[in-house]
Amino acid sequence: MSLNEGDRSPPPPRDDWALFLDVDGTLTAHVARADAVVLEDRVRHVLMRLQDRLGGALALVTGRSLAALDALMRPHVPAHAACLHGVQQRPSAPDSRFPPVASTWVEEAVSLADRYPGALVEAHGPCLYLHWRAAPAAAGAMTAFARRFATGVPSHRLHIGRHGIEIRPDGMDKGMAIADFMRCAPFAGRVPVFAGDDPADEPGFVAVNALGGISVRVGEERRDSAARFRLRNPQEVLHWLAEEARGADRQGERK
Ligand SMILES: [Mg+2]
Repeated sequence: MSLNEGDRSPPPPRDDWALFLDVDGTLTAHVARADAVVLEDRVRHVLMRLQDRLGGALALVTGRSLAALDALMRPHVPAHAACLHGVQQRPSAPDSRFPPVASTWVEEAVSLADRYPGALVEAHGPCLYLHWRAAPAAAGAMTAFARRFATGVPSHRLHIGRHGIEIRPDGMDKGMAIADFMRCAPFAGRVPVFAGDDPADEPGFVAVNALGGISVRVGEERRDSAARFRLRNPQEVLHWLAEEARGADRQGERK
């Protein structure tokens, strides 16, 4: 691999793509509280146009819960989504494969977060997210809690980030979620394309690479990413995706 591979801009969108997009950090900037993110209308607009253009083959692939994703996207609720890193999927939602985290663990995490103003706990059924972006002092205690959890609940794995830890059941990731979609209409037979910004997106990059697709990392250059293309920030992502919408507009004008 040349040094520059993985640092090129992706090719312009095509009609035969199956498009998979992470949300936070990819379509919107990260903020301290995921529930405080506001999606710009133009993002919603571009996504709707792409969905039509791709015959519906567009899915959001996110760590958010379905409820949190729908709250962000309203009034346009996405038809296809893989939430909680694929643990919750729409249209099919095989939630039942993964039992919820026991309430004793959730209560302990919440009371821990209460000691650090700004620290947050999100309990989403089988997943438990610990955030300290707004409370860096909570990092040590939350990490210690997560390690204890991982020892006590071996069915789950820790996904450690700079500003938090996601505790998720083993056996599902964004790559598996994308592979699930690619087996079904309207995705099957198309070229898979996935854009995402953080380490949890790496399995998605690996999955689309394996299917001959296009992997796009959003953010600063990183040598250890499997992504073959890169955009620097959500603004560049929107610009890239809007090329498609503008193309559709121009075709519409010619008719
Ligand atoms: Mg992200």
